[in-house]
Amino acid sequence: MASPVGHVALGLAAAAVVARATGTPDSTALWLGAAVASGIPDLDVAFPLVGLSKRYHRNATHSLLFAAAVIMAGLAVLRALEPDLARGVVLGWIAALLSHLLLDVVTTGPTLGRLGWGIPLLWPVSRKRFYVSRPFLVGDRTESHSLADRLREAREDAVRIVPVAALVVLVAKLVP
Ligand SMILES: [Zn+2]
Repeated sequence: MASPVGHVALGLAAAAVVARATGTPDSTALWLGAAVASGIPDLDVAFPLVGLSKRYHRNATHSLLFAAAVIMAGLAVLRALEPDLARGVVLGWIAALLSHLLLDVVTTGPTLGRLGWGIPLLWPVSRKRFYVSRPFLVGDRTESHSLADRLREAREDAVRIVPVAALVVLVAKLVP
């Protein structure tokens, strides 16, 4: 389970790779949009604020169907409001959104998996929750119950995920 720090870092890295591949120049829209897109699936953490169980976190919003719905809705809005936006910018945002699901899978290890916090990528077709037996970049995290737990995870992501993401951005931008 990655923190917002890890998600934004990987989202920017994904956008950088897409921008490189599509020859899209830097822009505020590219980076800001990628940062926002990388956090969209975790908007479900707000559900408890309206009285829903915290177990709504990591359900439908962490499925490929939800990602597809966000992409389709986003494309429709852009077509109406910003039809001239560069294709590479939009693809960068999509990559950042999808990077959220990838990062959540590879940073969810056996302990969180056993507790039912894997990612239901195939919801609603399948209830299977995806996680890995050996988390990538982070340790085998367990449930975070307090602000202190979340800050510790954010610090760990800043040290372990951000440098890797920064390296990807650098390579994408500097390698000829
Ligand atoms: Zn998430």
